[in-house]
Parts: sequence; C-alpha cells; structure tokens
Amino acid sequence: MMVFVEDDRSMKKVVVIGLDGATLDLLEPWMDAGSLPNLDALRKKGAYGRLRSTIPYYSAPAWVSIVTGCGPGKHGIYDFFRTDTCSKKLISGLDRKVPAIWNLLTDDAKKSIVVNVPGTYPPEEINGVMVTGLLTPSLESEYTYPNDLKKDLVEGKLGRYEIEQVAVDDIPKHLAARYAPEKLVQMINNVTTSHAVVTMNLMKTREWDFTMVVFRGTDDAQHLLWTQKELLLSCYKTADRYIGEIMMMYPDASIVVVSDHGFYQPKKYLYVNNVLCNEGYLKTRTDPRRSLDTFLMVFFDKVSKLLFHLVPMQKIVRSPLGRKLILSGGGNRNIDFSQTKAMYHSVCSRGIRIFLKDKVEKGIVEKQEYDHLRQELIALFSNLTDPETGGSVVDHVYRWEELYGDDAVNDPLDLILDLKKGYGTQEFFGSPGQFQDLFQSKNTPLPTLMTPGFYDWAGDHAPDGVVFVYGADFKQNQRISASVIDILPTVLALLGSEIPDYVDGCVISEAFITPPAVKKVNEKLTQSKKPFLSEKELKKIRDLRLKL
Ligand SMILES: [Zn+2]
Repeated sequence: MMVFVEDDRSMKKVVVIGLDGATLDLLEPWMDAGSLPNLDALRKKGAYGRLRSTIPYYSAPAWVSIVTGCGPGKHGIYDFFRTDTCSKKLISGLDRKVPAIWNLLTDDAKKSIVVNVPGTYPPEEINGVMVTGLLTPSLESEYTYPNDLKKDLVEGKLGRYEIEQVAVDDIPKHLAARYAPEKLVQMINNVTTSHAVVTMNLMKTREWDFTMVVFRGTDDAQHLLWTQKELLLSCYKTADRYIGEIMMMYPDASIVVVSDHGFYQPKKYLYVNNVLCNEGYLKTRTDPRRSLDTFLMVFFDKVSKLLFHLVPMQKIVRSPLGRKLILSGGGNRNIDFSQTKAMYHSVCSRGIRIFLKDKVEKGIVEKQEYDHLRQELIALFSNLTDPETGGSVVDHVYRWEELYGDDAVNDPLDLILDLKKGYGTQEFFGSPGQFQDLFQSKNTPLPTLMTPGFYDWAGDHAPDGVVFVYGADFKQNQRISASVIDILPTVLALLGSEIPDYVDGCVISEAFITPPAVKKVNEKLTQSKKPFLSEKELKKIRDLRLKL
C-alpha cells in the first residue's frame, strides 16, 4: 500500500490576533483572577512574555514593524502623520517601503486573511483577502481586496464592518469618555465584535494559511479610561471571548497574540513646543496663551458637555468640513516660520523637526548649524527636571541616525524623545483649557509640565507590549522575551516559508520545543506590492493630504 505523506508544515495554519496596547501590568492580575480565561489558557498551554516595541512606542511604526519584521528606518513609518511636512498629512500603506507578511506569503503561494491591521489602507492585491484598518479614510473608500468583498460587508453578509478614523474620531470618543464612559465601552466593544465577526466569517468561508486581525479597542479604552479598571476589563473580556472562539474553531492552528506597545498612567505631560518657545527656538505670531486656537480650545472645553448631549458629534467630525478642520494642522497657523528653528512634530512620533534651509520649505537653519543645534536641543531636553521631584523628565534624546541608521528611508524626524516613566508629551502650544492663563503676561514663560487636563490622555504608551504563542510547536508555560520585529520571522518559520535576508528580527527560538530550521533567502528589497485601487480612489488619498 502506498502512503502519501503531506509535508507537515504546508498544512499549518497561523492566526495572529493583535490587542492594541495590551500590557502585562493589567493582563497578569486579571488572568490570575480568572477574568480572562482564554488568554490564561494561552499562557499556560503556550509561551508568553514582554514584547519590546519600536521607538517611538506608537501604533503606526510598531504595527508596521510587526508585519514587516523590520525597524522603522527600513519600513519608513515613524508616525500616523507624514514626517515631510508639519501639517497633519496622514500616512498610507503606500509609504511603507518593505513587503509585509501577506506579500511574502503571496509569493510563497500561501493564502492570507488580513483584517483591520493599522496602516494597511489602500488594500493590496494579495493571495487572499484584505479589509483595511486604522487610517482608512471613510466608509465610502475602497477598503477591501477584492473590491467586491466590500459589497458583502455593506450588505452584512459577513457582518457589518466598522471603520475607525484616526484623529477624527478622537473628539467624540474623548467626550464620551468624559460624559458617558459606559457608552464609550459599549461603542468600543461593538467595534471589536464587528471586526471579530467579519474575521471569523472570512475564516469559515475562505481558504487560508494565515489570518491576522487587530482589535484596537484596548488602546482606545486605556487612553481614555485608564483609571476606570472595571470598564477596561470589559474591553479586554470582549477580546478574550473572541480569542477563545477562534481557538475553538481551529484547535490545530498556531495562535499568536501580540500587542504593539504597553501602557501606563502619566502623572504629568511635557508641552514640548512650549519648551521650544520659551528658549526661542520656536516663535509664534501672538502669545499662544491668547491665540484664537487656544481661545477655541478653552471654549470647547467649557461647552463640551452641552455639545456632547445636543449634537451628533461623530457625524460632524466625519463630515468633509469636520475632517478638514481637524486635519488642518491646528496650532501651526500661529507659528512664525521666518524665525522658527525647530518644532515638535506630533505626540505619536515623539520627534522634533529642525527647519533646515533648502530642505524644509521656509527653513532658516543653515547646514553648518545643524549638528550644533541638535546638541543644544539634546542638552536642553536632557536637563529638564520636574520641580516637584527634582528628577529628570526625559530619559534620552536620540539623533535619528542612532535609532534608524544612516540609510533610513522617508526622512525621519531630527531628534526623538524617550521620556521617563510617569510622563507623557503634548504637541499643543500655550496651555489649552487653562482659562486663567488667557490673562498671563507675555513675559511669563509658557507652562512646560502640567498635570493631565481636558486635552490630555488618562493613559499613555509604554515600551513593553505582550506576546503569547500557542500551538503544537511551542513549549508550555514558558516565559519569553522578544521584540516586535521578531513576529514576522516566527510566523514565516511556523508556516515553513523562507525568511528574507533584509528582515531585522529573529525567530523566537526559546518558545519552540524544537527550534525550526530557518530558511533564509537572499532577497533584495523591492517596493512593496502595488495597491489595488482605482484612479479615483488614489486621487482621494492625495486630496486627504491637506496643505498647510
Ligand atoms: Zn494608543
């Protein structure tokens, strides 16, 4: 009798489930208490531990590192916003300079299902299906591959798909957290359910070797409701329930649960642009405490409760005019670029842009001044202390090449701040929301370190996320420690696919019973795969990049 033996690895299925911002600081006590039974089962029957994020430890660079196995210097994503302009232009998948795991698997004739992974818009032509995630502009966008999949989603054949809009949705979420936190939790859990149901229906109806879905609700909840642990637990429980369902549906699949960074509670926020203003590196046309933007922010704070109850906030911010106002660069209007040398680019990049002549439009810094200026700014931020404790606020100030390498793509920011635990940053000018500061003398320095106010988050990102790996190949009850760049090689090894040479990460060997034979292949970096979208849709992406 002839026995036909299939290559074991070709039969494997791998599921990667993202829990945005999940931290062991919360997970471990909740798993110990039995509140998250499925994650607890994963850790006992598999390996788990801390997962080091990128610097900065924010979603855009970190998720792209997870799906490419490369650091930001190679994949080119440093922020939700483009680094080549100080107005708020959203990045898209077109800015990613290396292939993602679904591109590599497509080349290896393996099928993928990709749902709600941040930074995936526009959808790519892959062997499988893709529903794009955070940074998808709107429900009207073409956000699926193949594009007729969108029709099934709209008609509810696979479940209704919820689109989140970065920056734009922040306002209604912020207000809901303040005035109706239970309602916010319900909104977050509905979104998680929508993404889980669509993913599981795709898994049931399509062939696949690799599935990845990211649940973003844990991040939103932790930013806004950090001190309300019961509400946070509800968001974690919803994700835990769907992790359990997927484990039950595919008991032979390898499961990888991963977060892009951790979380903690900042006691104070560093207003980086105020520091630059006080020291003369950044000039504003009028005192930012009395600018129109600050006045509007104070006003919004005061009337926000009324607005929340009377106005359909989500509808307004998602309208074309609402989007335009939110993504138009805000406080930048008050900057006197003819006298400004440096500016904090955004919270999510933790980076400072130096306005070099000939490189940045309106730049005034001469090339020969660049290194000296960076040294001055490093000293300035390194020496900042919290008057209450006497301790330093900034842990380290990196030059871009120290983090991302001399050949970093997509023009990283010039200096990147890493703060001490207990501090967050703000990009606003002046002291938004502080009514009494409207009457401060202009000779008084701007406040630089403030306790969290209306416009600050209750929780902010920390460098360590989590990773759980579970399946027949993995040890049980094993503690591991890895980095975001190690997820792609580990998944490729599980599927028996080759790992390209340029990948920065390593297979998490300590998690495996028998470390897999790693097949490295010398592959030149080529542009990532072409997106699947119409000319009309491409134009829409370009239009979203608003001028300063
Ligand atoms: Zn976040």
